[in-house]
Amino acid sequence: MKSDTDYLRLAVDIAAASRAGGNHPFGALLVGPEGEVLLSSGNTYAQDRGVGHAEANVARAAARQYHPAFLARCTLVTSVEPCCMCAGASYWAGIGTVVYGLGERRLAELTGDNPENLTLDLSCRQVFSAGRRPVAVRGPFPELEDTIADGHKDFW
Ligand SMILES: [Zn+2]
Repeated sequence: MKSDTDYLRLAVDIAAASRAGGNHPFGALLVGPEGEVLLSSGNTYAQDRGVGHAEANVARAAARQYHPAFLARCTLVTSVEPCCMCAGASYWAGIGTVVYGLGERRLAELTGDNPENLTLDLSCRQVFSAGRRPVAVRGPFPELEDTIADGHKDFW
């Protein structure tokens, strides 16, 4: 079984591909109970504008394909902490665990007032704590923060 940081490095690769494809530099994947990568998505800003976040894309695809009882045993891995929309999408899909590399506050420092990513100062833990079922959260991962931040360099 791979570690959280192994999966986060995959998310970073997806984020880089997303950027290279003309979208924002974010990537996410869904890891199954046995450690298998079930789904992945980059950001889809070019097509979906402000709601084309990688985590929401993964959560929506996951909800289409899998039962919530199965998703409760799955983990959404994302390069950057999910915003409240994506945390909400993960919650409503029934995903049991979220792992992220870089925190929302650090992202806000990178994106500033860029109109394409006006961040909300609301942690995913705050969103999940308002829910009626538990969602486990692991992150940020300081050892990967600089690598993830590099993927945003000269972008915003
Ligand atoms: Zn989001």
